[in-house]
Amino acid sequence: MVSETSPTKKVWLDGNVVAAEDANISIYTESAMRGANVYEGLRAYWSESRANLYIWKLEDHLARLFQSMKIMRMTPPYSRQVLREAILEWARANEFRENVHFRLVAYFGKGGGFRAFRSDEIETGAWIAGGPRKHDDHVRHGLNLCVSSWRRITDDSSPPRVKAGANYQNSRLAAMEARTNGYDDAIILTPDGKVSESTGASLMLVRDGILVSPNVTSGILESITRQVLLELFERQYGTPAQERTVDRTELYIADEALICGSAEEATPVVSVDRIPIGDGLVGPMTQQLQTLFYAAARGDDPNYSADLTPVY
Ligand code: PMP
Repeated sequence: MVSETSPTKKVWLDGNVVAAEDANISIYTESAMRGANVYEGLRAYWSESRANLYIWKLEDHLARLFQSMKIMRMTPPYSRQVLREAILEWARANEFRENVHFRLVAYFGKGGGFRAFRSDEIETGAWIAGGPRKHDDHVRHGLNLCVSSWRRITDDSSPPRVKAGANYQNSRLAAMEARTNGYDDAIILTPDGKVSESTGASLMLVRDGILVSPNVTSGILESITRQVLLELFERQYGTPAQERTVDRTELYIADEALICGSAEEATPVVSVDRIPIGDGLVGPMTQQLQTLFYAAARGDDPNYSADLTPVY
């Protein structure tokens, strides 16, 4: 089963921690009307031994949010420092003592319509919300994916590098098609037929003992988890992973496959288009990468200790 984030009672909206039912954004905002927002999905991991909650890769997520805003010519509603503090304030207010998944959203507000972007034309704001989230069951059993008949949005139309709410229209179409046809989720190809990514996660293959990932010009979001897995692979196996264009048929003959992301962590893929990947079971390298990933995110790998921000 896909585990979902349980909504919490308290959220952060434009400077204040408030009860979720009091956090209202007008229907006249461009965010509500046309999905004009950019956002990040983050995780925080609870450490029983340290009795603390740690936000994973906070600085990388803040950096990517500011890149998304820059491309969209959006005036940042708050500085990085304010957003960093806001996340900590929000997490403390909720007194979390378990693993958490949450979103940090920067939105275009009221005024100006869809052509407006300058600060004298349209307001911008931000909110933080989320809650406890368990690991997905698929992390253990793997996913059955299909190749979508929908193609990935492109850098010259609706850039996937921008983590924009509106980009998920493309993901939604592909995921609906996949689920209607009995698959867990989809892999989306670029307009020229190369493998891009899944609907909300990066995709990776193992071929002849090497981890292979579609490169950053394959219509993907520049995933933070993907970067970590590429690094972990190189450190563990002493050889670099490959970032390159990937053909559809490579999916079918791969030894292993997985998807990765802040929400999905490192989730095995056991079939594509009903063709088993390898022997159709969770692959050994995938399992190894999962173990290394959890060690890093949970604070057991000193190479990543600077990537954990304590909440308490
Ligand atoms: N691709 C897409 C389309 C996504 O929505 C996500 C989740 N944010 C990812 C990849 C994974 O990115 P990250 O590892 O930074 O969460």
